Amino acid sequence: MGILSRRLSAGLLAAAAILALAPASAQAPYPSKPITLVVPAAAGGPTDTVARLIAESMTKTLGQTVVVENVGGAGGTIGMAKVARAAPDGYTIAVWHIAQATAPALYDGLKYDVVADFDHLGRITDVPMTLVAKKDLPAKDVNELIAWMKANQAKATYGHAGIGSASHLCMLMLMKQLGIQMEGVGYRGTGPAMNDLIAGQFDVMCDQTTNTTGHIKDGRIKGYAVTTKARVPSVPDLPTLDSGAAPGFEVSAWHALWAPKGLPKDVSDKLVAALKVALKDPKVVERFNGLGTEPVIEALATPEALKPHLEAEVKRWDGVIRAAGVKGN
Ligand code: ASP
Repeated sequence: MGILSRRLSAGLLAAAAILALAPASAQAPYPSKPITLVVPAAAGGPTDTVARLIAESMTKTLGQTVVVENVGGAGGTIGMAKVARAAPDGYTIAVWHIAQATAPALYDGLKYDVVADFDHLGRITDVPMTLVAKKDLPAKDVNELIAWMKANQAKATYGHAGIGSASHLCMLMLMKQLGIQMEGVGYRGTGPAMNDLIAGQFDVMCDQTTNTTGHIKDGRIKGYAVTTKARVPSVPDLPTLDSGAAPGFEVSAWHALWAPKGLPKDVSDKLVAALKVALKDPKVVERFNGLGTEPVIEALATPEALKPHLEAEVKRWDGVIRAAGVKGN
């Protein structure tokens, strides 16, 4: 081998060694491939709707496709277990809701810690809920509906998205307050449950305005009342349960963005920044408003606000759920 080629191969070897030792900073900047956004409920439901709007906006901001993956079942705990186990690299994130706070009290032997196993990126929206029924149910208003539920409780059924889902908790709390006991029918999300309500397969449901507004307006189901203290602009004719039928009743499904615990700081910062942009995106704001909700204020779309909120909600729901004697498994 001549001196030139010896020098050349020594140089190549050195270059290869440098490349092998190249620090992470030399890797392509995050995100360099599509991001999976887990929705722990079926497609076509209220959380799916919120998540897809956010994903579309984050795709524009991050320059990589944010792909929604629906992993429904067991009140969202199957999907969130998958996220807890995923690599904390920013390529697996989740949009989920209030059920993250109710899972510890409901599920014995939960495979993850709802606080310690996640990075809590920020809140998205608080979605009001609506008491709805199949369209041929005879009740003309919420008082008649409640009278009907009382009179028919032995055979009446309600749909929900699994033990601990927002739709399940809402109806449980309402039945407890009203002294009614109906049988529940569980689905992997209120997307499929809604199809069955429209088809008249069960009688009533308490579901988020993001899933009910359009169907109420089009007459496919009947809307009776909302679960917030104030009326909801997307369904302005519906009274609040608090104002008459169930004084003090209040529940809404707050949604947030999560990731597996331990994201690098720069990745977490990018995701939070993209979330904030999504919550100001005119298309997201307009669609949220049309569905009876709105983005949270920017200060809530942060890890600093979400973690203490979740911890407080875990405490609050622990008391409510144990008092109600409900179990998920
Ligand atoms: N979030 C569920 C869904 O998207 C509904 C629920 O929790 O009630 O189907």
